[in-house]
Amino acid sequence: MGTLTKEIDKYAKNKKFEIETLKIREEYRKEFIGNVSHELKTPLFTVQSYLLTLLEGGVEDEKIRKKYLARAAKGVERLTYIIKDLDMITKLEVGVLSLDKENFDMVKVVQNVFDLFEMKAAKKQITLTFDIDYTEPIKVYADKERIQQVLTNLIVNSIKYGREKGTTEVSIENLIKNKAIIRVTDNGEGIAKANLQRLFERFYRVDKSGSRKEGGSGLGLSIVKHIIEAHEEKIYIESELGVGSEFSFTLEKTK
Ligand code: ADP
Repeated sequence: MGTLTKEIDKYAKNKKFEIETLKIREEYRKEFIGNVSHELKTPLFTVQSYLLTLLEGGVEDEKIRKKYLARAAKGVERLTYIIKDLDMITKLEVGVLSLDKENFDMVKVVQNVFDLFEMKAAKKQITLTFDIDYTEPIKVYADKERIQQVLTNLIVNSIKYGREKGTTEVSIENLIKNKAIIRVTDNGEGIAKANLQRLFERFYRVDKSGSRKEGGSGLGLSIVKHIIEAHEEKIYIESELGVGSEFSFTLEKTK
C-alpha cells in the first residue's frame, strides 16, 4: 500500500471510530433521558392525581383531605430524592465532581449514619449493629461527605431489602498495606447470582414492582460504585437469594 493510501485508510478508520463513538454517546443519551422521564413519571402522576382530586372539591372529609395532601407531599419528596440522585450521577459520570479528601474517623461516620437511620430501621424492627466495640478511632483518608453517602446508600438498601426483625451489621477490618475494608451485611431478601453483575448499572432494579413499592431511583448503587472508583478503591458484593447480602469496600488508612 502506498503512503497516501495508508493515510486515507487511517483517516477512514479514525472517522469510523469517531462516528461509532458518537453513535454510542447518542444511544447512551437517549437511554438516559428515557430512564429519567420514566422514573419521574410515577411520582409526578401520584402528586397530580391527589392534587386534582382535592381541587375538584369532592372530598368532604377533613381526614381524607389531609391524607391526600400527605400523599402528594410524599410524592414531591420522592421526586426531590430522584432529582438529587440524578444530579449526583450526572456529575459523577461527567467527571466534574472532584474529591475533597481529608483524614477522618470512619467509626464516627458509621455512628452518624446509624443515628440518621435508626428510626427507619426500627419501623421494620431491624437491628443496626456495629460489629465490635470500636474504642479506637479508625482513621482513613478519603472524601468524608461522599463516603458518608456510600455508607448511607448501602445501609438504606439493607433496611429496604432487609427482612422484618432482621439485622444490618457494619464492620471495619484492617487489611494489609494501609487499607481498611468496610462491610455492610444484612440477612434480607438477597440477590440471585444472575442479577449480581448488573446491580451497579444505573436505573437497574432486580424486582421492578417490589423495588418500586420500596421507592428509590435505581441509582443508589451506581452512585456508590462511582464514588468508590473515583477513590481508586474496590467494591464487592456477596449475596445469596433468601439469605442476605454483603457489600464491602476498601479505603486508604492514615498511618
Ligand atoms: P434502588 O434501591 O433505588 O432500587 P439501588 O441502585 O440502590 O436502587 O439498588 C439497585 C437494586 O439492587 C435494588 O432495586 C434491589 O433490587 C437490589 N439491592 C440493592 N441492595 C440490596 C440489598 N441489600 N439486598 C437485596 N437487594 C438489594
